[in-house]
Amino acid sequence: MGQRQQQVTILGATGSVGCSTLDVIAQHPDRFQVLALSGHRNLTLLTEQCARYRPAYAVVPDAPAAAQLSAALSLLSPQTEVLCGADALRRIAALPECDIVMAAIVGAAGLPPTLAAAEAGKRILLANKESLVVGGRLLMDTVERTGATLLPIDSEHNAIFQCLPTAKDRQGVTSILLTASGGPCRTLSQEELAKVTPEQACAHPNWSMGQKISVDSATLMNKGLELIEACWLFDLQPSDIEVVVHPQSVIHSMVRYADGSVLAQLGEPDMRTPIAYGLAWPERISAGVSPLDFTRLGGLTFEAPDLQRFPCLRLAAEAFAASASAPAVLNAANEVAVEAFLAGQIGFLDIPRINEAVLDRVPSGELTDLAALLALDQRARTEARTLIDTLQ
Ligand code: NAD
Ligand code: MG
Repeated sequence: MGQRQQQVTILGATGSVGCSTLDVIAQHPDRFQVLALSGHRNLTLLTEQCARYRPAYAVVPDAPAAAQLSAALSLLSPQTEVLCGADALRRIAALPECDIVMAAIVGAAGLPPTLAAAEAGKRILLANKESLVVGGRLLMDTVERTGATLLPIDSEHNAIFQCLPTAKDRQGVTSILLTASGGPCRTLSQEELAKVTPEQACAHPNWSMGQKISVDSATLMNKGLELIEACWLFDLQPSDIEVVVHPQSVIHSMVRYADGSVLAQLGEPDMRTPIAYGLAWPERISAGVSPLDFTRLGGLTFEAPDLQRFPCLRLAAEAFAASASAPAVLNAANEVAVEAFLAGQIGFLDIPRINEAVLDRVPSGELTDLAALLALDQRARTEARTLIDTLQ
């Protein structure tokens, strides 16, 4: 083909999505080159990734981690410049030579560098749904202003993107069917839910993912965050979206049309499919994913979500309706609650309780600038921690 290799920055390279991204890139060395990688805690893995992909830049959280990584790379990848801190994350997201930014940091921490990529007009592969939940209006407005390209990598949103008409006006679309696996706790009673352990909550039946999103899948908070994500990405209201529980995770989401047609995107539950789609769009490339074998599929089943046992989905719709920044409050509360649950400090059913209480207590408004959103995020985190302390 003779085209220039695309230069890729991966924010959150050491995570589940980050590793899957490197896996797809490794299959296409003629098309993609790793420009920059970031990691947070797993320095051993980041060192291995730098040794293998020889990025020009690597980013770690602080100076001690930078010193450690530099020492390790002095022989393994001497050309890699090691940087640290939040400024460095923004910098590698906006490098002039960068073509594609994979936003795969978990949580609200992903918003500032994703926004920097949008400011710089990059092609952004968005896995970090929390950045849209926290700063939806800000991020979408920035993308619009700079002409950046925002491609959804979350499997459901990638499916919707593939099933929507290409014309901007969405002529003939009547609704979106956002599918949910229901997670590992789908069939548990209220009494059983009260006793769910972190190990159970993280044992997702179909997907292998980071711990935070695994717990979010178990509480259905993930579907709530995805509902908000879909509203921003596709300019929808929650009433335009039907959430359908589909435990097999074969259909990744669907679009319903006025003439009775429903278009669905299907595939193995493997993030390399949407990642490859985003990397090569509008072309298609191999992803290393096995073809879906229809003769081996059991039945595909569907059911309505149970908002009584899984109130987080309802909370997300309420937050989105309440104000532009109420979802930032809900997200911050949820990040703190999930961390406390994983640390054994609170029970599984305390997660929705804390989320709802923080949403009630922390006033939000139509905030749209980054500093104000991050301050609100901090206020909600403090409130969530205070509530957790009272539970112990
Ligand atoms: P993960 O926990 O496996 O990885 C998170 C990455 O972010 C790691 O590289 C970690 O080092 C980095 N990180 C964590 N905290 C950070 C901080 N404060 N500052 C900078 N970097 C930090 O998570 P994941 O499962 O790969 O998910 C990443 C994002 O993609 C999440 O927003 C998740 O909701 C979304 N997502 C994941 C999947 C999946 O299959 N894993 C699917 C859809 C969407
Ligand atoms: Mg998803």
